[in-house]
Amino acid sequence: MRVSNYLLSTQKETPANAEVVSHQLMLRAGFIRRNASGLYSWLPNGLRVLRKVEAIVREEMNKAGAIEILMPLVQPADLWTESGRWDKFGPELLRFEDRHNRDFVLGPTHEEVITDLMRKEISSYKQLPLSLYQVQTKFRDEVRPRFGVMRSREFLMKDAYSFHLSQECMDETYTKMHHAYSNIFSRMGLAFRPVIADTGSIGGSASHEFHVLANSGEDLIAYSTASDYAANIEKAQSPQPTTTLAPASQQMSLVDTPNAKTIAELVEQFDLDITKTVKTLIVRGATEKAPLVALVVRGDHELNELKADKHELVAAPLEFATDGEISDAVGAGPGSIGPVELAMPIIIDNDVAVMSDFAAGANQEGKHLFGINWERDLPMAQSMDLRNVIEGEATPDGKGTYAFARGIEVGHIFQLGTNYSKVMGATVLDENGKAKEMHMGCYGIGVSRIVAAAIEQNHDDRGMMLPEKLAPFTVGILPMNMHKSHRVKEMAEQLYSDLVEAGFEVLFDDRKERAGVMFNDMELIGLPHVVVIGDRNIDAGVFEYKNRRSGEKQEVPFAEIVSFLK
Ligand code: ATP
Ligand code: MG
Ligand code: MG
Ligand code: MG
Repeated sequence: MRVSNYLLSTQKETPANAEVVSHQLMLRAGFIRRNASGLYSWLPNGLRVLRKVEAIVREEMNKAGAIEILMPLVQPADLWTESGRWDKFGPELLRFEDRHNRDFVLGPTHEEVITDLMRKEISSYKQLPLSLYQVQTKFRDEVRPRFGVMRSREFLMKDAYSFHLSQECMDETYTKMHHAYSNIFSRMGLAFRPVIADTGSIGGSASHEFHVLANSGEDLIAYSTASDYAANIEKAQSPQPTTTLAPASQQMSLVDTPNAKTIAELVEQFDLDITKTVKTLIVRGATEKAPLVALVVRGDHELNELKADKHELVAAPLEFATDGEISDAVGAGPGSIGPVELAMPIIIDNDVAVMSDFAAGANQEGKHLFGINWERDLPMAQSMDLRNVIEGEATPDGKGTYAFARGIEVGHIFQLGTNYSKVMGATVLDENGKAKEMHMGCYGIGVSRIVAAAIEQNHDDRGMMLPEKLAPFTVGILPMNMHKSHRVKEMAEQLYSDLVEAGFEVLFDDRKERAGVMFNDMELIGLPHVVVIGDRNIDAGVFEYKNRRSGEKQEVPFAEIVSFLK
């Protein structure tokens, strides 16, 4: 590719409103552009990477025996009513009517459509097992789209579904898919971890998430220091019984009503020092002396806004609250005044941190609840629901102790059992001619999220350092003063055609730019190999080669460049 024919669209300045490094770099390196909240266009550099991710996913799906299909993004509401998810799914499901006033949704996932398809296509056990997949646009009306394509509203997912006569057969395919996922992330050169996961709203028995490890990850993984045991924090099991919380009546003693209090009042009352923003904390050991209290902030919040007390704030007692209870406690819930967000000032080593970032799921899933330990001299308060384990505690398999890592969920596999086939009547005839509900599995991969996750894991202060298999181009040609030196131009053109012929994906910077500008661009988009050509090199008969990852420079004789790069 010649840069003069291309849309490179790099920018030097770090964009405002991009919190995580992958989002910043994807904007700077001309990967994506925002069209509206959670909606992005992919520019050529980004699309090249996206397609590489897709290609690896496809190859491994095909290898695992899955067959590609393509289902519609727009789905009829009838199917969702049939499965029961029309009522259950909540506001992430974007619903609309067509001109005939029929209800439709933009598919956030495709269990309903595939089950409908298969109940019509498959009638005999002889047609099973069957695994089908697609790579397709999904839409989820995320309450807080953020971090660019990491959590967007429209995104690309690979979703696969498998159909079986028996649980044993389901288990076999599940294991096969687990391997396929490990192959996918290994081939991409990413550091990842499969973890035991909750089956969540889709329902089912077994489930694993695949996380790309990165400090910016939204998820917390608890793993054993001495075995393969790893689980997401919601699912991690503590071998010790959890402490029981004080009854709500006693918790009320400090903040005795769910009446609104301002942050300023609370800060004053409890002498709080709101200095830090953290993403996840483990809360332990709530006692009668140290009741748990949630601070609930309505609307979007930022630390400085909290300080400035711009939000209506409610302090409410918190015990094993469900979303209903918490809604009651704060007098609002989803649908009434919009998203209710939770924030938690919590004392860690005499510091106070503001809990944030869990807002979205909090009310809708009723899982993410946070507490505060008011007494500075007591240990951390006990988590009541999802935060079951603490660092250093023994793991359930008796090997090693719990350690924590942050992860980005890039894949998720589930055994659905007969949940969907039962309610939607997806049966086949078995050997005895008896109708049997099919066992199902489903297997998702966040194709577009992987691009961001790979960058989170592979960058330095000069830009991206994507693994060779994912980089937009593998070799950059950087001619110095090509527009003045005929020799350089000739050499660069020759090298370009040699490398293209040898099968390399080459970005040839034929712009009239200063060498520094061209070099910065190649480093920013993270081309693994850069070959520099100047008059000096021609005199010496060597190319100047630079490796993006190691930073090493080397002189390579003209005749050896192709074999050197291979
Ligand atoms: P998350 O917990 O991050 O919201 P999820 O558990 O809701 O993800 P799944 O239903 O398991 O997502 O979907 C399969 C995969 O799709 C996820 O593992 C993730 O990689 C990807 N994905 C889900 N939501 C988004 C999103 N909003 N933007 C980009 N990718 C997403
Ligand atoms: Mg989600
Ligand atoms: Mg998840
Ligand atoms: Mg998931």
